[in-house]
Amino acid sequence: MLRALLLQLAKSSRLRRWITSHGVTRRMARRFVPGEELTAAVEAARACNKSGMTASLDHLGENVVTREDAERARGSYTEALERIAAEGVEANVSLKLTHLGLDLGGEFCAEQLRIITRRAAELGNFVRVDMEGSAYTDRTLRIVKQARAETAAVGTVIQAYLFRSEEDVRELLAAGCRIRLVKGAYKEPPRIAFRRRRDVDANFIKLMKILLPSGIYHALATHDPQMIEAAIRFAAEQNITKDKFEFQMLYGIRTDLQSRLVRQGYRVRVYIPFGQDWFPYFMRRLAERPANLFFFVKNLFRKAAPLA
Ligand SMILES: Cc1cc2nc3c(=O)[nH]c(=O)nc-3n(C[C@H](O)[C@H](O)[C@H](O)COP(=O)(O)OP(=O)(O)OC[C@H]3O[C@@H](n4cnc5c(N)ncnc54)[C@H](O)[C@@H]3O)c2cc1C
Repeated sequence: MLRALLLQLAKSSRLRRWITSHGVTRRMARRFVPGEELTAAVEAARACNKSGMTASLDHLGENVVTREDAERARGSYTEALERIAAEGVEANVSLKLTHLGLDLGGEFCAEQLRIITRRAAELGNFVRVDMEGSAYTDRTLRIVKQARAETAAVGTVIQAYLFRSEEDVRELLAAGCRIRLVKGAYKEPPRIAFRRRRDVDANFIKLMKILLPSGIYHALATHDPQMIEAAIRFAAEQNITKDKFEFQMLYGIRTDLQSRLVRQGYRVRVYIPFGQDWFPYFMRRLAERPANLFFFVKNLFRKAAPLA
């Protein structure tokens, strides 16, 4: 219930204005978003590199309504790729197609992505296309498959909570596409998605067992120790070595687990969001864990209270 409410509130422009304009809430969002500028993300990525982890930089933004905004977003991604190369940081980029104008037309959006993946390929880097709500799944997969036919510098994300995901995984594998497996962060109807946590987890493990032996380099993006343990066990049984896949986690979440996996010799990539449009991302993080919301509200009232 709380999760559904928070995901619904993530669409509220009034709440967005309120939360993003207050110093207190902006500072609290720093737990998940290191800063609004690319420089902050590059610094965070460098810190991850020092701790033995790679990174994926995500310039936050989604559902742009003008072509100019989509083109500006595209420019921010090519700029991020240039900075990563110039500064020798071990990082790639993650992006959302609605940030590149998917709502304005598939062809237009595909062209924006093409410009970014072409630059990534020239620089020997990689672009991960995030997966958004189910209204975008078909279009996202279509554009990613088109892009993958042109370059191996692109991959996408599969959400274990969707019933359709096994079929999507098989099609993407046939196209040679690298996949990041996640549980799924959006509010989806029971007609198309597993609701119970144990069903989502079971599907995550089922899909993980298809991905890891595929011979393609995939990512398991989860903070759930049970999913991670299941993957470690399965990889060991199948003689899949630690360099054949990576774990991914979000900036600021389960940093203890991130370090432990590095110490055990696993590859870990940290997803580092940056930019001014952090509100929907922040709300999804609150929705994932009620404790985050209570922490947030408690601090809000504490900071807002007048000094005695
Ligand atoms: C690198 C990365 C990329 C992602 N990309 C996408 C994407 O493209 N599309 C998409 O739909 N989803 C994406 N997600 C989000 C994902 O779908 C889940 O919503 C999110 O990862 C929480 O699920 P979990 O697997 O960590 O397991 P859960 O069962 O939700 O959590 C397991 C444990 O992790 C910790 N934890 C999880 N979330 C939080 C949090 N917000 N704050 C504090 N602790 C937390 C808690 O200790 C919790 O008990 C991504 C996640 C990661 C890590």
